[in-house]
Amino acid sequence: MLYRGLQQAGAAFQAGERLGSVLLEVVKSVVSATVALEYVELVDPTTLMPLEKVEEEGMLGVAARVGSTRLIDNIILRNCQPIVAIDGPAGAGKSTVARQVAAILGLVYLDTGAMYRALTWLVLHLEVALEDQCAIAEIASNCQIELAPSDNLEPVRVWINDQEGTQDIRSQNVTSNVSAIAAQPAVRKALVQQQQRWGKKGGLVAEGRDIGTHVFPNADLKIFLTASVHERARRRQQDFQDQGQANVSLEQLEQEISERDWKDSSRDVAPLQKAADAIEIQTDGLTIAQVVAEIINCYHERLSKQ
Ligand code: C5P
Repeated sequence: MLYRGLQQAGAAFQAGERLGSVLLEVVKSVVSATVALEYVELVDPTTLMPLEKVEEEGMLGVAARVGSTRLIDNIILRNCQPIVAIDGPAGAGKSTVARQVAAILGLVYLDTGAMYRALTWLVLHLEVALEDQCAIAEIASNCQIELAPSDNLEPVRVWINDQEGTQDIRSQNVTSNVSAIAAQPAVRKALVQQQQRWGKKGGLVAEGRDIGTHVFPNADLKIFLTASVHERARRRQQDFQDQGQANVSLEQLEQEISERDWKDSSRDVAPLQKAADAIEIQTDGLTIAQVVAEIINCYHERLSKQ
């Protein structure tokens, strides 16, 4: 009965009702007199302070006694668009796939790797030593990173302190140093805060390494994209060729990818990990269109159940 009451209030919320007094009445109307309600309340899910209406997020909580047994339940009401989290190792095809999924679903694409790359570019440009965590923490909290959609092969356009770095952040030098910078706790704190601010109202397809586990642990759909090291190296080589960049051998790319996998998965803070509730897609032998179609299917299936 309590669960049904909360679900009906959830349905009223989905239909546009935001007022606490009305939502509480919906719950109460479902619970019969055989159950002694202790309380039904609408609160902020983080602070647990009472709310009169839901602006962005609310929690409806209920407690009741049936005989000598005390029962509690709650439901989160979120007034925002969905978030899709796509994580996975380097070269698994996350950027291409996430960009297409976002376009199909009418959501904004967020490339968090581009942010770590932008910061790495700036640190290298300022000739700060990678081990100087204090100086890098200061740069991370003061730098301005802006992202905008790209209409060419690059996943996104990127500006660092008003200087465009769209191409520079994809250089070999940045790629081979980014994991060392992304492992630093202060760097992660600064960039994750910014990502969470952008995601406050939802409406995102965010890709990276820790999106489903740390940045948006309540994402509506979590995907973990992966592929064998050989396949990922082959795709990277193809990307370089398509962009007219110098030919890099498959062996070198395999080694770099394995090294980055290891660094990203073994760091102390928010390592690359599949979230427990993520759907894993192994993309060896699949085309981009097939992977995108599978994610779109998962999305509709998951959201129809909410
Ligand atoms: O996705 P991309 O290869 O551009 O990411 C570059 C690097 O940024 C990764 O190898 C990883 O070290 C770091 N990264 C991260 N957390 C994210 C996204 C990227 O640590 N959410």
